[in-house]
Amino acid sequence: MIIGERKPVKEILQLIGDRKKILVLGCGTCVTVCLSGGEKEAKELASLLRIKKYQASDYTVERQCEPEFIRPLDYRLKEVEAVLSLACGVGVQALADRYPRTPVFPGLNTTFLGMPVEQGRWEERCGGCGQCIVHLFGGTCPVTRCAKSLLNGPCGGSKDGKCEVKPDRDCAWQLIYDRLKLQGRLDALLEIQPPKDWSPSRHGGHRKMIREDMLL
Ligand code: SF4
Ligand code: SF4
Repeated sequence: MIIGERKPVKEILQLIGDRKKILVLGCGTCVTVCLSGGEKEAKELASLLRIKKYQASDYTVERQCEPEFIRPLDYRLKEVEAVLSLACGVGVQALADRYPRTPVFPGLNTTFLGMPVEQGRWEERCGGCGQCIVHLFGGTCPVTRCAKSLLNGPCGGSKDGKCEVKPDRDCAWQLIYDRLKLQGRLDALLEIQPPKDWSPSRHGGHRKMIREDMLL
């Protein structure tokens, strides 16, 4: 899922500026699950803005990133001076595209693609590199989980299984070794991985996907 964190209130107030009629718009998908931008958070933020004398209302759509879910907002947007979106950056842009005359402000910082590892804790798992090779590493992604994105073994700096760059996190290469050992596949580590082709990653710019069989 996409993980996001709400911006500090002080920053949100700076974004809104002197606009008074604000719609706080939650999203019912990823950011609801990671407790940063769902219905509850939208209500809380709208309430906080009202305390600060804004005419803030709130609403939550199922998915802000898809046009059919935001189309029903047309009449609500006529009533406000700005939208404070609690969706990920995709949702913010979908709104901004549909309502080009209305300022849309991001209330969240979109941070990573991750998963919940325990109650209240999420960790990054995928950097969307565009060419998944995670099977080569026993199902642990070194692109994302190794601080140096190493594909041919550890850097040598890990200690007690922890990363030298971020000692509160497991060394990805320790995890890879342990998993391959469990599967009886340690010989896979002898295979030299060629330099990764980064052209399908976002370093090549804005990406798109087309499914010819789905086009009308
Ligand atoms: S190899 Fe690329 S696509 Fe696969 S999990 Fe890692 S970052 Fe994501
Ligand atoms: S300690 Fe492990 S996870 Fe950290 S940079 Fe080195 S190999 Fe990567």
